[in-house]
Amino acid sequence: MMGNEIHKLINENVSLRKDCDFCNESRLEVRETTNYGAAIIYKIGNTIENGWFATLSPKTGGDPTKDFTIQLMPLAHLTHFSQINSYTELAKNYGLAFSRISEAVYKVMMEKNNLKAKSDSKDFGISIAIYGKCTTWKEKKEHLHIKIFRLEVISDNRILWIALF
Ligand SMILES: [Zn+2]
Repeated sequence: MMGNEIHKLINENVSLRKDCDFCNESRLEVRETTNYGAAIIYKIGNTIENGWFATLSPKTGGDPTKDFTIQLMPLAHLTHFSQINSYTELAKNYGLAFSRISEAVYKVMMEKNNLKAKSDSKDFGISIAIYGKCTTWKEKKEHLHIKIFRLEVISDNRILWIALF
């Protein structure tokens, strides 16, 4: 039997909210830009039960062949990873969106920079990271967003997160 609190979380209202920037951006089409200059680069699905969209941040967008931050978000105002499981098509489309964006990133970076599938040096290697977080703490609870970005590998044991925020 499901506990009352997890039941509340999973059944939370995920309708678009007027006061949420990401909900407002989710209405934009591919190639349009947000009011802070992020470009909508990908969309899959068309309802709050199946849709995701991705933006390319203007902060690291100077040369996307070398550095970038992509943000992947559900169209719906989900606030928790666990809520994705309530919508089967949303879960499937997450996998498709993530894998297609990843392949595009590798194609662009490898072709433009002559990077190798297996490199003896970091100069010809490609390092990518993803980052996402969620909380039920009201003050920090926000529209789910998952970042995909280039990692700069400094040495075997130290990595610099160059584009986390
Ligand atoms: Zn939202």
